Amino acid sequence: MAWPDATLTVQACLQQAQALGVARLDATLLLAEALKQTRTWVLSHSEYALTPKEYSVFQSWLQQRAQGLPLAYCLGRREFHGLMLKVTPDVLDPRPDTETLVDWALEIWSQGGADHVGSAGSTRQLGSGPAAAREPTRVLDLGTGSGAIALALKAAYPHAQVHASDVSVAALSVAQANAKALGLPLTLHTGHWWGAVSGLRFDLAVANPPYIREGDSHLASLVHEPFVALVAAQDGLADLRTIIKGAPLHLAPGAWLLLEHGHDQAVAVAQALAAAGFVEIGHRSDLAGHTRCTGGRLRR
Ligand code: GLN
Repeated sequence: MAWPDATLTVQACLQQAQALGVARLDATLLLAEALKQTRTWVLSHSEYALTPKEYSVFQSWLQQRAQGLPLAYCLGRREFHGLMLKVTPDVLDPRPDTETLVDWALEIWSQGGADHVGSAGSTRQLGSGPAAAREPTRVLDLGTGSGAIALALKAAYPHAQVHASDVSVAALSVAQANAKALGLPLTLHTGHWWGAVSGLRFDLAVANPPYIREGDSHLASLVHEPFVALVAAQDGLADLRTIIKGAPLHLAPGAWLLLEHGHDQAVAVAQALAAAGFVEIGHRSDLAGHTRCTGGRLRR
């Protein structure tokens, strides 16, 4: 679309975005990025005239966004639990809802609910101090994608050995790039669920596996994200069940397994956990109030 120089203002760009059906917040964030300014600056400088270069950067993102590409892929980054992550179409766009899983893990250890389970202070000498004793020692994020959950846990638990697996080599290279950029070392493993970490045991395992059922109408809005990260057989429960079934062989007695799942899968996940020998089974809700996470503790 031709856009005369005289109208290359922030305001004109926002109007153009609206005409293309792009949400105002998204357009503002794209402008902020193109102008290397904050969102607040953009909002308070509606008369600012973009340089042709700024405009062309904004244009290319705007057109991609108008075609449905998630904002995170347009920008190539996404903030998750206070960490700025690189994201590409090889990985799921990390959702704020998934921060629930991280917060739950932090809650368990901060409240001493994990006493005597892989707490760093109880299994190895890290010097004294209650902080060191309130960290899990061996942590695993199954199907890590961008590394979002694993990195958030490593940021919170600097003494923990944090492992992360994925079946996708392309995803692991994004996770590796994020680990390096953030200075948060992870031990990465390629492979399918527990097959990636055979012979190892953990005190805390978390996963946001694919859980959308095949043919779900929801998938129409997710076409830009990796299918393999989204869809699972058995009404979306196949991977959750595989993870739960294999967990007792790879968790220490008393260890925790926390899982993200679909809004209507909490009962099925809780049943599978109980059948596999988990106790203290609980749930957490996402930002929209859906029961989004279920987890439990392996019987000692
Ligand atoms: N929460 C994502 C969505 O419904 C799906 C993520 C997943 O399948 N793990 O958009």
